[in-house]
Amino acid sequence: MKIIFSSPFPPLWSKGVSEIASLLDAKVVYIGDLLRAEVKSNSLLGEEIKTVFDSGQILKPDLVSELLSQRFFNDSDNKILVNYPNNKTQSESLAKFVKNSAYRISACVVVSSDKASITKKFESQFHCMDSSHPKLETSEGNPECEICNKPMIHSYDLKNHQVTHLIDSYFDDNGALSGVSTLSRVLGLETIPFTTPKEVVNQIQGLSHENV
Ligand SMILES: [Zn+2]
Repeated sequence: MKIIFSSPFPPLWSKGVSEIASLLDAKVVYIGDLLRAEVKSNSLLGEEIKTVFDSGQILKPDLVSELLSQRFFNDSDNKILVNYPNNKTQSESLAKFVKNSAYRISACVVVSSDKASITKKFESQFHCMDSSHPKLETSEGNPECEICNKPMIHSYDLKNHQVTHLIDSYFDDNGALSGVSTLSRVLGLETIPFTTPKEVVNQIQGLSHENV
């Protein structure tokens, strides 16, 4: 069983994802970890990924699909992929890849969110100058670090074009999460809203057998 867990800002839902995983006896895999593992393995694909990283370019979605083929689909374990695909381009590439392969995605779990609430999440993230001190999510203006009492720093600058572009890329023209809406449209996938881990698991287990 292969599940896609899609949400902007995945760290906020990581506890929910681990609960779903333990109920389904599945492994949670983050796209960043898969990329790093492939680079570390010194495979041909890993070298290609490293070259792109080193040059500061954006990874081509087709390269990621190939990575997922090896490290996500081609494995009998139940797996939940987090943080991919996040935008329309990534999603279209992955959908095309799955369509042309024997691989199946069982379902997408989606955290429903809109641009305003996600922007607020980004605004609420703080960290300390000392990166070993804990991060904080708060809607209060000027929090202090609980370890050193120094003022904390906004982790994301909402005036930074890259940050606003990142937030924009999560949503399609209708305000839906673009990664999942494309994937489910092209592949006809079940989309399950993230409510409680138990409810999500009930819905996944209720899917027809041939999908799973
Ligand atoms: Zn501190």
